[in-house]
Amino acid sequence: MEKHYEVVIVGGGIIGTSILYTLSNFSSVKSMLLLEKRGFVGEGTSKSSSNSQTLHVGDIETNYTMEKVIATKAASELILKYVKTLGKAEAKSMISPVSKMVLGVGESEIEAIEKRCDRKFLEVFPHIHLLRKSQIGVVEPFIIKGREHSEKILAAHSREGNMVNFELLSRSFVSHLPKGKNAKISFNDEVISIEESRGIYRLTTTKGIYTADFVLFAAGGYSLYFAKSLGYGNDLSLLSVGGNFYYSKRVLNGKVYRVQKGHIPFAAVHGDPDLDYPRRTRFGPTVNILPYMEKGAPSSAYKYFKAVGVDERTIESLLKITADKDLLEIVAKNLLYAIPDIGTYLFLKEEVNKIVPSLRYDDLHFFKEGGGVRPQIIDKKKMSLVLGVVDIKGEGIEFNMAPSPGASACLKEALSSSLYITKSLGERFHKEAYSKIFCSDESEWKLLTQG
Ligand SMILES: Cc1cc2nc3c(=O)[nH]c(=O)nc-3n(C[C@H](O)[C@H](O)[C@H](O)COP(=O)(O)OP(=O)(O)OC[C@H]3O[C@@H](n4cnc5c(N)ncnc54)[C@H](O)[C@@H]3O)c2cc1C
Repeated sequence: MEKHYEVVIVGGGIIGTSILYTLSNFSSVKSMLLLEKRGFVGEGTSKSSSNSQTLHVGDIETNYTMEKVIATKAASELILKYVKTLGKAEAKSMISPVSKMVLGVGESEIEAIEKRCDRKFLEVFPHIHLLRKSQIGVVEPFIIKGREHSEKILAAHSREGNMVNFELLSRSFVSHLPKGKNAKISFNDEVISIEESRGIYRLTTTKGIYTADFVLFAAGGYSLYFAKSLGYGNDLSLLSVGGNFYYSKRVLNGKVYRVQKGHIPFAAVHGDPDLDYPRRTRFGPTVNILPYMEKGAPSSAYKYFKAVGVDERTIESLLKITADKDLLEIVAKNLLYAIPDIGTYLFLKEEVNKIVPSLRYDDLHFFKEGGGVRPQIIDKKKMSLVLGVVDIKGEGIEFNMAPSPGASACLKEALSSSLYITKSLGERFHKEAYSKIFCSDESEWKLLTQG
């Protein structure tokens, strides 16, 4: 039998669950269903071992424009506001304060940090302080230990960072659905195909058939696969960028990011504490271009190539993107890091020792269970990689793809999708109730809902 819902959400990661939470708590939509192919929510890229657990606010991301910084800050603060609505134990289980810095090694990186921390930037982030070499040693002694005396370094440091377990945050969202509302989740239920007829969508899944007035895909790179099956997103293509981690014993107190090269949309290798393993420091992620959608899923290659949509324009875009000197250098280095043993040694020398010079080969271990895939979207018109979340909106349908810092921006994505869904269905969004928790005034609302 076909079951009908007003809204079906495909994918129970941090994006799908935050949309289900927002739509069910703050709108008049009466029936909604979330379909997740795994047995739990938050088990894909949102899993705590898959990503770097950073709440990105824009203060240490040197590749963001000032506009992006302001938008990122407003978006990530929604998570802090959500956590305030929870009991202490639940909040503590998923978020933890952490100090963080962006470290510049050598003249050009130091210059980039000094330029970044101008008056305008410090007005937005008054808690950021520049630390010289001796001051860095007080905060993070292992950054200094074993470092060449003559090597110049500078850091922009904050004591106000946060680490987030996005897997637990996804679970929290679905445990705070309003009682009595028809908001359901079906696990182990994989969407195989979707068709549209007279404004009604029909989803065929491993468990049966569902129909819906509105369907939202929050299924990572698979969202683009389904978009193309319905004729959307033909100006877009996909680069699956895998990222692995290594770990050592705990050598850093907080998060240490590096200055980002050029316009690369993903972070350079950084060192982080791990919420799941407090005695470890994690290093990564690496950058591996993969021909599939998910970590360890070569069987998704067919869907990957469908999402890529191999044509002349895609190939031209890929050639232009990979001709970028900075990207080419990163990809080439990471190809070498994938070679067993020698790769680990090169990763240590080229990346880890720039942060912690005293670590040796035997100190570093590959984090087998860790890592994930970022669905980096290619804009075929501009022939460039898109920074951040991409959303395709159509009639009664939406497709979301969220590489980093997608998890940090989940509640902003949820607000934008909820507004679009309610408008499309002629339902109401309860702005007043929403604003009581998430938004203090009209200018903040404007910032969250623009763009
Ligand atoms: C190495 C790495 C480091 C990162 N670090 C950070 C960080 O520090 N901070 C940050 O904010 N972001 C970070 N990110 C990005 C962040 O992890 C993602 O933006 C976020 O997890 C994406 O969430 P999602 O819900 O879109 O995807 P997912 O969590 O992957 O969820 C998609 C869900 O869809 C389900 N699904 C797929 N296909 C189907 C189908 N056909 N039917 C049913 N269900 C389906 C999957 O099982 C999955 O549960 C990082 C990413 C990577 C890879």
